[in-house]
Amino acid sequence: CGIIGIIGTSEAAPRLIESLKRLEYRGYDSSGIAVVTDTGTERRRAAGKIRNLEAVVDESPVSGTVGIGHTRWATHGAPTVANAHPHASGKVTLVHNGIIENFAELKAELIDAGHVFTSDTDTEVIAHLFDATLQTGLSAKEAFKVVLDRLHGAYALAIIVDGEAQTLFGARRGSPLVVGWGENEMFLGSDALAVGPFTNRVTYLEEGDWVILSHNSADIYDSKGFRVNRPVATVSASA
Ligand code: GLU
Repeated sequence: CGIIGIIGTSEAAPRLIESLKRLEYRGYDSSGIAVVTDTGTERRRAAGKIRNLEAVVDESPVSGTVGIGHTRWATHGAPTVANAHPHASGKVTLVHNGIIENFAELKAELIDAGHVFTSDTDTEVIAHLFDATLQTGLSAKEAFKVVLDRLHGAYALAIIVDGEAQTLFGARRGSPLVVGWGENEMFLGSDALAVGPFTNRVTYLEEGDWVILSHNSADIYDSKGFRVNRPVATVSASA
């Protein structure tokens, strides 16, 4: 339902939660974050209100300046902790808005290849498919394009790939996604409100666009894989 991604210069967890609170108005049934720590990418998830997620994070803190967060409105799988985003497989951790129409077919293929699923969501197939594609030896950028071309349905995505720690991957088709521009910080959000606490300079990705973010750049590609430039807009502060 709601997405935030941060490549920042200060602790990500409190900022991710602040942003998720801005997204509460959209409605949700569970929430979660993932942060790139010194020892790997770690997830914290909770069913119900964001204050439940805050309690989990207070109990078991995560430290790092890069992370992703999600408020979920379940379409496939009950609103449980196991079905809450982020979902992960191997090197890949991601959040997703939308519906993957061909998830059952992809899931069967991945289970045949030995992947073990831990949720009932359509989303989890994306993590396994991306990790499996990385294992074929492609670069993360090449693998991402291969994965996107196999997904049918609607998605906005924010993705962490271990080993590409100061990078976030994003994509949109059928669900909106914006890039937020900060000072040596970059953001992904499901709308301008999501990144509103951090910046008012946003780029609205177009249908089929995908993006690779670093601390100070956004390399945007269209659905055919061509590098494209999209304008940066200044939005007025709201809420
Ligand atoms: N289809 C996904 C799920 O059920 C994403 C739902 C959403 O957009 O929040 O987990």
